[in-house]
Amino acid sequence: MNKEVLDGLFRPKSVAVVGASAQPGKIGYTVIKNLIEAQYIGKIYPINPKADEIKEILGLKVYPTVTDVPGPIDAAVITVPAKIVPQAAEECGKKKVKGLIVITSGFSEVGEKDLEQQVVDIAHSYGMRVLGPNIVGTLSNSDRLNASFAPFLPLAGKASLVSQSGALLIAIDAATFTRRVGFDKLISIGNMSDVSIADTIEWLNEDENTSCVTLYIEGLKDGRRFIDVCKKATKPIIALKAGVSAHGAAAAASHTGSLAGAVKVYGAAFQQAGVLQATDLDNLFDLTLSLSLQPPMRGENLLIITNGGGVGVLATDAAERYNVPLKFAPADLQAEMRQYMPDYGSPKNPVDMTGMAGNEWYQGTTQLALKHPWVDGIVVLYCETAITNPLEIAQSIYKAVQDSGVKDKPVTVSFVGGERSAEAMRWLVEHGIPAYGAPDVAVNAISALREYAHVKEFANEDIEICQNDHRDAAIEIINAARADGRDSLTEIEAKQIFALYGLPVTQTYLAKSEEEAVSLARKIGYPVVMKIVSPDILHKSDAGGVKVNLKDDHAVREAYTTIMNNAKSYKPDANIHGIVVQEMAPWGTEVILGSVNDPTFGPTMMFGLGGIFVEVLKDVTFRVAPVTTKQAIRMLDEIRGAPILAGVRGEKPRDRQALAETVCKYSNMILDLADEISESDANPVLVYEEGKGAKVVDARIILKNK
Ligand code: ADP
Ligand code: MG
Repeated sequence: MNKEVLDGLFRPKSVAVVGASAQPGKIGYTVIKNLIEAQYIGKIYPINPKADEIKEILGLKVYPTVTDVPGPIDAAVITVPAKIVPQAAEECGKKKVKGLIVITSGFSEVGEKDLEQQVVDIAHSYGMRVLGPNIVGTLSNSDRLNASFAPFLPLAGKASLVSQSGALLIAIDAATFTRRVGFDKLISIGNMSDVSIADTIEWLNEDENTSCVTLYIEGLKDGRRFIDVCKKATKPIIALKAGVSAHGAAAAASHTGSLAGAVKVYGAAFQQAGVLQATDLDNLFDLTLSLSLQPPMRGENLLIITNGGGVGVLATDAAERYNVPLKFAPADLQAEMRQYMPDYGSPKNPVDMTGMAGNEWYQGTTQLALKHPWVDGIVVLYCETAITNPLEIAQSIYKAVQDSGVKDKPVTVSFVGGERSAEAMRWLVEHGIPAYGAPDVAVNAISALREYAHVKEFANEDIEICQNDHRDAAIEIINAARADGRDSLTEIEAKQIFALYGLPVTQTYLAKSEEEAVSLARKIGYPVVMKIVSPDILHKSDAGGVKVNLKDDHAVREAYTTIMNNAKSYKPDANIHGIVVQEMAPWGTEVILGSVNDPTFGPTMMFGLGGIFVEVLKDVTFRVAPVTTKQAIRMLDEIRGAPILAGVRGEKPRDRQALAETVCKYSNMILDLADEISESDANPVLVYEEGKGAKVVDARIILKNK
């Protein structure tokens, strides 16, 4: 990142508006008006070739070109028609402008990719960066900069927004006032011809006026760089991802392909990147408020303080739902809190001070709780009562936080009531304490602070890249299949590649005759499994192409004939390579491992409960490769069926460590062969008791089109 250039783009000290207009309603007029009305602290230079005629716009002298401007120009807002943007860029380059804010549309979004690239190339030849094109512009409260056609600066605050939708940015701008969530910068990112979301996050992470980054994402261009930048960021990042339905619908040749929707892959990538994912627009605002104002919650002990049993129960339910379940407060804290409640109150957790609670009790309890080492975070709830004044309660909570001197534990608040409560909550937010209209939302907001502490821990784990020098051998197998005109590997070929990368596959050999099958079966040792090998038969069992538990020569001979006949009647023109004979793996828990090559994030790993119902149960989870053994363990814990691996109903726990190592190796394989493999899966992998490992009994690899 060239910080100085991006500073010029996001915090310019002077702005030229190229395509300035004296005509109200034109964007070239609106931008100037907005800059003036926001009381921009820098210089504004309207640029129009007819400067001689126009002379002034809104009292500012107009220049015919940027090169006529006497002083330096940091950023040029470009509003001229698309066709002449390259020429405008050229002139800005000569003037040594740092960045171009290209509002103009009519580029790659309508198929004009070359024109867009031309602008970027010109900009780069002069060392400039391009924001956009096809954007609303960029806004910064701390610089009083509204270099956009959004009507005004947002409510001031510490969050900064990067939005891929211009319309949504304008709507959020207005909504900051009604929702009381403040922002410092609003950055419209548009077509991302040059400056990407990742670049912007990297810059915002260094921006002294930003404490948290809020993203509205439709589609990333460079998923892996996004993950890297977010991992390194020291500020919370919250993302709302739109458009999660289309991708998964594409016809898929593997189980994994059909299960990997954009939702899941983005979700996995966000988690790995340490980015919190907002569920909807409301949630985006709610989390932005808490993450921009409060510290992360570093432990799991949440305390809820309330004057009403009902909201306390609602909050308790929410705590469970959002993964911060309540535990009873320690005895010493309970005893101390007793002084701020009647006999029939409860100091356990939720701490119910009852409807008798007034200012002193709120202040006393909150302060005790904050100072107690057991407590990691607090949600303070209040129901409007006849005997209390909401604003005074708010002030008591604030005072407790101030007087405690504790700065590393988060507090969120919910007041339930009418206009007086709403006013009290506005006061709290202005004083840095996030307040919400419903108890579950206050709990959700603090749970996000807990999750943030969590994801950051994970995101900073080192990755282990398993070394291997078998790539050449794998490529040879792949090239042979390609030479054969195939875009997928047979089970035996896929298993050979799996084996090269250290995956525990069943011993598998190809037989071309009954005699050969018998001698291979003897070599492997009975019982054996036999399966059809044909690039035209994807699901072997469907074709009657799998026979298991064959115990002797006779069974092998019989199976050979049956499988051949079944395959021929299933698909008369199938190209049959032969029949594989393989060791019969003992029974184990069936899981699936698989991969897709995601268009945004590249090789991505899947794990789930396997077997024939995998597409029905959809109990799977994803990670962008490579996956460490530790991360793999978390994948195992994440699925709904996790208890099955942990051992249920008297069954011994499964060998989760061996399985996690297999996931790690698999993920390294798909990374190493990213140019070759499009999708793959191992379904099933049989997992045995602890210490007894796992076995891949079926393997499938689909190649990339070349
Ligand atoms: P497909 O998925 O193409 O129908 P599989 O190779 O997965 O074929 O075989 C179908 C089922 O047979 C597997 O789900 C597994 O239960 C069983 N099976 C296959 N190979 C073996 C083996 N080597 N050892 C034990 N069971 C096997
Ligand atoms: Mg299978």
